Amino acid sequence: VSQGFDVHRSTGVEHTILGAVGAKVVDTRDYRVVEGVKEVHRISEPYKLASRAFRPEGTVVEIGDVKVGGDEVIVMAGPCTIESFEFCDIVAERVKAAGAKIIRGGAFKPRTSPYSFQGHGEGGLKAIRKAADKHGLLVISEVMESSQLPLAQEYIDIIQIGARNMQNYGLLRDIGKANKPALLKRGMSATISDLLLAAEYIMSEGNQQVLLCERGIRTFETQTRNTLDISAIPVIHDLSHLPVIVDPNHAIGVREKVAPLARAAVAAGADGLLIEVHHDPDNAICDGAQSLKLEQFDELMQELKVIAGAVNRPISGQEAVKV
Ligand code: PEP
Ligand code: MN
Repeated sequence: VSQGFDVHRSTGVEHTILGAVGAKVVDTRDYRVVEGVKEVHRISEPYKLASRAFRPEGTVVEIGDVKVGGDEVIVMAGPCTIESFEFCDIVAERVKAAGAKIIRGGAFKPRTSPYSFQGHGEGGLKAIRKAADKHGLLVISEVMESSQLPLAQEYIDIIQIGARNMQNYGLLRDIGKANKPALLKRGMSATISDLLLAAEYIMSEGNQQVLLCERGIRTFETQTRNTLDISAIPVIHDLSHLPVIVDPNHAIGVREKVAPLARAAVAAGADGLLIEVHHDPDNAICDGAQSLKLEQFDELMQELKVIAGAVNRPISGQEAVKV
């Protein structure tokens, strides 16, 4: 009781099982090291608000007239980073025509090297907002630190939290206090449980509009930039009521193989895709090698229409097809 839970004892022939009833936050290792203890197992998950049990019917995040987590598989597409209004305008026009509902593009870029391009900041946000409004799209863009939130919120519809910031708890809490949907990317070395606990940080501050994003994790494989964890899609759907978005570009790292991963993600039940597309990827400022060309994006959307149809869902911006 001093530990905050009641103990339920069941005595067997070989082992005695002690159940910690009502235990909230416990470190199972504290009990594993106690003499006489053979094993300690968690039977309820440490996250609550993010858990499927909290909202068994699933969450639909509504942003304007776009519903993420409903039947329609929502596509978000655009460049890795915002380069200019003209470039956003070209990409926005094409991705909108192909069915995308949301344009992506970073104004604040988390780069592995401090000497790499860091993003156009407010100028970039203005450019992507203008292009989005011109073509009837919503905007998703990354916020790297809390000090950028007030400014970014004036221009964007979804706050992207990058893989490198998944465990930046101060940032998560501040986004939890914001009245804007957030897309939380899985950290490169984060387990599904870590991801759901990071979502719990946002939700415990009041913001329930959270989208989870699988973008590839680090494994021992060196042939790909990261390893796309397709299993995460059905597993997260079991564990959580939050919509699952897949980013195939950052997983595979080369444009030729983005389409197969995107198709697999939709087949596995993803609620949306976050795709890098550029009108001239060979000359893009960042992530050009993994960005789709405009015509590759058009072709992918046609393929996705069929895959989505096979799992009884319409794909972003297009009529449902019966397969
Ligand atoms: C991005 O979306 O461009 C990005 C930086 O992604 P990640 O945080 O997944 O590396
Ligand atoms: Mn990128």
